[in-house]
Order: sequence, then C-alpha cells, then structure tokens
Amino acid sequence: MEESMANIPELFGSNVFSDAVMRDKLPKDAYKALRKTITTGAKLNPDVANAVAAAMKDWAIEKGATHFTHWFQPMTGITAEKHDSFIEPVGDGKVIMQFTGKNLIQGEPDASSFPSGGLRATFEARGYTAWDPTSPAFIKEDTLCIPTAFASYGGEVLDKKTPLLRSMEALNTQALRILRLFGNSDAKTVGTTVGPEQEYFLVNQSLFDQRPDLLLTGRTLFGAKPPKGQELEDHYFGVIKTRVKEFMNELDEELWKLGILSKTEHNEVAPAQHEIAPIFTTTNVACDQNQLTMELIKKVAARHDLAALLHEKPFAGVNGSGKHNNWSMATDLGENLLEPGKTPAENLQFLVFLTAVVKAVDVYADLLRVSSATAGNDHRLGANEAPPAIISMFLGSQLSEILDKIESGELYSDPGKSWWDSGVAVLPPLPKDNTDRNRTSPFAFTGNKFEFRAVGSAQSISCTNMVLNTAVAEILGQFADVLETADDFKAVASALVKDTYTAHKRIIFNGNAYASEWPVEAQARGLSNYRSTPEALPHYLDAANVQLLRKHGVLSEVEVESRTEVLLENYAKVIIIEAQTMLQMAKVDILPAASAYSETLAETALKKRKLAGKADIVISTAYEESAVAKISAISASLYSNIDALETALIEARGIEDAEVAAKYIGDTVVEKMNDLRVDADTLETIVAKDYWPYPTYSDLLFGV
Ligand code: ADP
Ligand code: MG
Repeated sequence: MEESMANIPELFGSNVFSDAVMRDKLPKDAYKALRKTITTGAKLNPDVANAVAAAMKDWAIEKGATHFTHWFQPMTGITAEKHDSFIEPVGDGKVIMQFTGKNLIQGEPDASSFPSGGLRATFEARGYTAWDPTSPAFIKEDTLCIPTAFASYGGEVLDKKTPLLRSMEALNTQALRILRLFGNSDAKTVGTTVGPEQEYFLVNQSLFDQRPDLLLTGRTLFGAKPPKGQELEDHYFGVIKTRVKEFMNELDEELWKLGILSKTEHNEVAPAQHEIAPIFTTTNVACDQNQLTMELIKKVAARHDLAALLHEKPFAGVNGSGKHNNWSMATDLGENLLEPGKTPAENLQFLVFLTAVVKAVDVYADLLRVSSATAGNDHRLGANEAPPAIISMFLGSQLSEILDKIESGELYSDPGKSWWDSGVAVLPPLPKDNTDRNRTSPFAFTGNKFEFRAVGSAQSISCTNMVLNTAVAEILGQFADVLETADDFKAVASALVKDTYTAHKRIIFNGNAYASEWPVEAQARGLSNYRSTPEALPHYLDAANVQLLRKHGVLSEVEVESRTEVLLENYAKVIIIEAQTMLQMAKVDILPAASAYSETLAETALKKRKLAGKADIVISTAYEESAVAKISAISASLYSNIDALETALIEARGIEDAEVAAKYIGDTVVEKMNDLRVDADTLETIVAKDYWPYPTYSDLLFGV
C-alpha cells in the first residue's frame, strides 16, 4: 500500500480501459470510430467492435484478468454480473484466450430471475445486454467488466441504465436548440454532470454478525436509545479515528484504480456515520461509479473487520443516510450552463436555463418524489428528518431577488462581492459567497449546480437523474418552441424568464423546510406531500408523467407500469422481510431472554427471603419483585403484539393487487411493527446486559 500511494497519478485509472489506453492500444481508425460513437452517439460498425474487443482482451489479460462479464443494472437497483472465462477450446485439449466483438457488444443473461414487473413471463427467459461504450470498461478482481444496458427479448427495457442514457439524449437535443438561439455554434453536445455524495455507517463486523436484523435487513429493527446520541454535535467533521482513516485510505486507493475521482471524506452528523464524495462527472458514468463506490465501501470495510451500512436508517432516533445528487448541465467544451457568472442579472442564457429547471421541478415534482421513494427512505422523507417529502427548491437570496425584480420590472442592483474580515491582522480577508447554504431544502441551488438531497443512501441515482434530465429537456423544448419563432429574441426570452418565474415560483422556498409551518404553507401553495412510498409511487402513472417519459422516448407506458409494479413489490417485500425478522427475533431471542432474567430475579428473591427467615435481618426483594412484575407485563404485551403482527402479515400476503398491498403494509404492518418494537426496547432497558441477546446501540455506535 505504502508504495502504490506514492504514485497516485500512476495508480489512478490503472484498472480502467480509459481513453488514453484506447488511444494507445487501438488502431488509429478504430479509435477514431469509437470516439465518434462515444461523443456523438454514432453507430459502431462490427469491424471496429472486433478491434476494440481484441485490444480490451489483451489489456485485461495483461492486468491479470481471466474472465469477462457484462455488468448491468437491473431494476433491483443494484448491479448484476455473470462471469465467463476467456477460454475457448481449440482441440487437442488446448484452449486459447478469446474475446470477440460479438462478446463485447451483446450478452444473453437469463432474464427470468430479474424483476420485470410483469413485462416478461418466466418462460420467456431471454434477455439481452448491450455494451455501453460511453462508460469505460474496467477490471474488478480477475474480471473485465463491461458496462451494459439490459432489455428483454421483446425489446422492453429491464434496467436502470437505458432510460438514463435516453434521458441524456433528450436533454442534449433540447438544450442544444436553446444554445444555438443564443448564438453558440461551437458546442457539439450538452450533457448533464453529477457528483453524488454518499453517506454510510461503519460498525464492528463482529457486532454486526450478532444481529439478525442487520444481517437480513441492513438496519436495526430493535434497539433502545443510547444514553449518548448525536446531541453534543461532536462527530460532524470531527477527527477521523485511525482505524476509519485506514479504511478510507484503502477505499480511496481502490476507487482511484477504477478511475473514480474520490475527493472528500469526512465524519457525518451521527456517531459512526461518514461521507464520501467524488468529483463530478458525466451522469451516466457517475451512476456506474456510484454503484461501484457502494460495492467497494462494503468490500473494503470487511477487510478492516468493519461492516458498512448503506441503509437509509440503520438506527432509530439517529440521523439517517442520504445521497446528495449534485446536478448540472454542461457543453462538451466544458461550459457549465448553470454558472451564473459575475452578473447573473444580465446573464439571460443562465436565467433561461435556471427558470427551465424551476419549471421542470415544479411541474414534475411528483416524479422526483417517486424517484426517491423506497421503504428505507421513508424513514427519512416525511419523518422528522430531512429533507421533507415535499419537493421544493432553494435559490438563495441573490437569485430570488434578481427574479423578484425581473417579475416586478424593477432594476436589480448588484451589491458586489462582500468580504469577511476576521479583525485579525494575520488572517487574510475572505470573499463571501453570494448566498448562504440551506441544508433543509430538498432541491438547493449551490452556486453553479443543484443539489437534490432526497435520494436514499442505498438507492441507485439513475432514476432521479433520468427524471431530472427528461423533465428539464421537456421544458427546454417548450422554451425553444417559443424562442425559435421570436422576432425580438431578447425581449421574448426576458418575458419567458419573467412569466415562468411568476407561474412556478410556488416551488421556491428559501426558508426552513424542517419547520412545522412549512407543510401547512406548502399545502396552501398546492405542493404535494407524499409522506410514504405507497402514497408516492402510484403517481409514476399519472397521465402527465407517462406522457413526459413517452414523448422523449425514455420509457413507454408499459415500461412505466412495469417499473411501478416492481417498486411497489419491492416495497412490500422489504417490509415483509423486516416484519418476519422482527417476529423471529422477538420469539426466539427476546422473550426467552426476558424469561430467563425473570427466573434469575425470582430465584434471587426466593433465596433472599430464605436468608431473611434464617438470619434475623431485613432483606428487601423490592427490586426483584417489581422487575419481575414489569418484565412479565411487558412480555405479555409483546406476546400479544407478536400475534397482531402475525395476523397483519397473513392479511398482507393475501392481497393480490400490488398497490393495495403496499398501502396495507405501509399502514397496518408498519404500525404493528412499531408496537412490537416499543415493548422490546423497553425490555432492553430492564433486562440485565448479560441476558440481552444483542449488542446495544451504544456498542454499535461507539464501538469502532
Ligand atoms: P458541498 O456540497 O459539501 O459544499 P462541494 O461543493 O464540494 O460540496 O460539491 C459537492 C459535490 O458536487 C461534489 O461531488 C462535486 O464534484 C459536485 N459538483 C460540483 N460542481 C458540479 C457540477 N457542475 N455538476 C455536478 N456536480 C458538481
Ligand atoms: Mg452537499
């Protein structure tokens, strides 16, 4: 490790079939043709594919790879891979290492075991994976991984990558129309850029292994509040412990090898919670790399006897984990279209793109909410934790003031840069940002990009970005329709900015989105507030949403239906597994522990009384007796709550319709789970530690 750390530039991307490697290894013509495909989406001819495959294979074998896989992202939201070795028999009991253009371009995994939401009957098992040349191939352990899209035999999309790629094309088309109107004829493409900040927890592997809930569901289903939580605010940005630092260093090294620009690592708000952020890149690549990052966080943690928890809410009462999806649009020449420049009030192009995003978020808020709806994320959104389930935007004071002035027709006067002077001679004065940050907003403008904070830590960021790209593409298209026919471009564009702001400013909220007044005000503004996944998901199918996705060729109606079905079913499955795990823990661990401790108490009380009878002294059995009484009362209540949860589960399993089932589970099953938990958590505070079957919150949160 020491050695390789010394040369990070050399280490960086060493396991990636990068542009530099391709330029080096490919015949000139093949390289040129491939570049054209990557940058403009041109079709690739089979000869080129063969040349690329040959170069890829040689490079991979040089790096020690023996296998290859089409690496894809089915609707489970995680990645899938099926490994094939390079060997090919040549008779005589001998083999050669082979990898053809066809191997590269197309794969055929059995599609029947991946969720399809009724798109494909199990007997139609065929599915295809298709090489995505816009995301570089890489080596993971001994395997050459080729990022691919995944579709059924009938052509329906079965993955998270394809719609994302389509949405990027849609945005490219519409954004270019606008840029051309502003006289930009140099940019060839417009892409979206994403930098996802990933939160996670680290706990000791040995403690993790002792908890069935962590093992089976990724979160604790029981656990009394620890005496110390995050109230001292001493963990956020706190000194990183040596062991965690070693983990982070190794993680960085692994990520760098894969060409992932891991940049920032720090402690998060909750004890044992951390964050990692890469430098942003093209959305498609950022999604792939975030998947790899999640995978590596877990793998590298295990090497340090740590278990990484990516779940949105591993511990009740302790801050949960999210993923901040930083998003912007940029040309192939590197111009960030959300960069306000020095004088945003005069930057009409910026204001057009900005208000397009404002309108897109307002009109398609429900889709954004849907994109972050999972069972795990319900513990954050709509609970007492941020961001709220209401989608709103933060623009900050400067931009809001500019737009307000545009609306009222007044002149905006730029206050100029302000400075922070510490009053200490040796400290240099620092320029202040134009606006403060707002950490409570789900969708915040942060200088030259937007940060969507509602995504769950365990989620793929594909869906969110697919929605964002498509929604913004739609609005840019509407804008272009108006602007392309304008006589006085500047006047029409200014009016468009003004009218759009007026019509959609209800989505802008610069205040505290955690405050109890906000939901009331949001309702008055007509903003939706879907507090749970079963409430949110059906809106995927709202006519306007289906129409949007269909119009831009991102998803067909059938594909949206199937996705909704998959998500609803996933929600139900996750909660049913949690409920079953709770039942098992309560029945075979918790109640027996409570009983055993009661027995000890009762015996102690008996022995004490005996002793008191013999010796003429006063011995109190008050503690033992009252503890036994308490434990037996709570155990009885827990026992009946087990019954209630079991009954609810039977009911849930009997419901055919996915939406009805999800609603029932979200209401009734979750409620019974909460009841069961209350009793068990109370027992944990009474039963002696030696008797309690699980490591406690304190053990888990402060043990590393
Ligand atoms: P913070 O939000 O903590 O202040 P940064 O400003 O460093 O953090 O940015 C957070 C993330 O936003 C990083 O991953 C960064 O690369 C990403 N980011 C910065 N600029 C852009 C952009 N133009 N498009 C997408 N992501 C961006
Ligand atoms: Mg951030």
